Amino acid sequence: MSELAYPYEAPASQALFDRAAAVTPGGVNSPVRAFRAVGGTPRFMVSGTGPYLTDADGREYVDLVCSWGPMILGHAHPEVIAAVQEAVARGTSFGTPAEGEVALAEAMVERVAPLEQVRLVSSGTEATMSAIRLARGFTQRTKVIKFAGCYHGHVDSLLAAAGSGVATFALPDTPGVTGAQASDTIVLPYNDLEAVHAAFAAHPGEIACVITEASPGNMGVVPPLPGFNQGLKDACAANGALFVSDEVMTGFRTSRAGWYGVEGVVPDLMTFGKVMGGGFPAAAFGGRADVMAHLAPAGPVYQAGTLSGNPVATAAGLAQLRLLDDAAYDTVNAVSARIQSLVTEALAKEGVAHTVQTASNMFSVFFTDRPVRDYEDAKAQESFRFTAFFHSLLAGGVYLPPSSFESWFVSTAHDERAVQRIADALPAAARAAAEATA
Ligand code: PLP
Repeated sequence: MSELAYPYEAPASQALFDRAAAVTPGGVNSPVRAFRAVGGTPRFMVSGTGPYLTDADGREYVDLVCSWGPMILGHAHPEVIAAVQEAVARGTSFGTPAEGEVALAEAMVERVAPLEQVRLVSSGTEATMSAIRLARGFTQRTKVIKFAGCYHGHVDSLLAAAGSGVATFALPDTPGVTGAQASDTIVLPYNDLEAVHAAFAAHPGEIACVITEASPGNMGVVPPLPGFNQGLKDACAANGALFVSDEVMTGFRTSRAGWYGVEGVVPDLMTFGKVMGGGFPAAAFGGRADVMAHLAPAGPVYQAGTLSGNPVATAAGLAQLRLLDDAAYDTVNAVSARIQSLVTEALAKEGVAHTVQTASNMFSVFFTDRPVRDYEDAKAQESFRFTAFFHSLLAGGVYLPPSSFESWFVSTAHDERAVQRIADALPAAARAAAEATA
């Protein structure tokens, strides 16, 4: 698609992007924001309210990214904002323990039964990195099993066959990760328990942990087949390894207790981020108390953070978790189902092969008529159709994730007006997808 093919312009965003590119590599602080997979000008947003984002050109969009998951109550929820304002007025960082971090940890432990103890950090990457270090320290083993298409942040040893931004750029690997780091990582096809059993058999006594997205959303939404997560747990238990469930994306989003609340498989360690921070940098890892007891200062495995448990972030996260009652999840699930059926209806009408896959209220649209069970299936879709679909929706005032390898996210704030905007924009987008050529 050439630059001229975009049906609109965004001069203020383009001017900001040009300025940004002079001082920041590629003009962005996280690669997928640069629109490289879909082309065109990334939108620089100036404000968000409820289900809407407004860009620098003054255009309003229904947001189906929700900051990649955290904004489950929509943007600028009044009660979250009030909690943040109250916290900010008391000071923004103390470098000491404070009650807010205790309250957030208690709220998490109360919701997620396998979470006996929790350590707060500032990003999902930090959470998975620390969980892996702890698993290695606890088991005194080095190797880690991960799955192709699962993204666990940009942890060196986990950047092998990662989905998300790495999938978007089709990088087989990244320069800067050493051979030693990569060689301790065993990458297996997702949803393939046989491969897991074979890896344990090939590396007896060497595997510290298996890490998996609780329900993957970084190669698009590819839920675990029935029994897969339990099979991982059992294989880990049988081989003296830890089962690490990465709930950074699914935690407190797919249910009050995250994906654990949906499936009930008990991990040894879990990681969290996104929703628990209420739109601020807060994340966590936790799980079995006997494993967490190995973490400094209780135990020998070092981990720390200047801004860990930041009082503003914990206030935002706690306010958001408290607002997420059963009714809130019912609302998010219902609006998600509604949008899914509108998308299917529009694409089917234009004869576009597609598959909508869901994990609770997370969902994504694959441009293929085959079920997507692993990363290879995800890559086999007709992504060029997504590009046309994406730009048509953007022109119609709907902001999708700018890549066909991502989950779409909705919030309790996606009301009738927002859904109608999507419904109005979909017929043209479906036509654009139908007419797209590779
Ligand atoms: N784990 C999963 C499952 C994620 O989806 C992400 C981010 O999208 C991360 C870890 C990394 O989190 P962060 O971007 O906060 O470092």
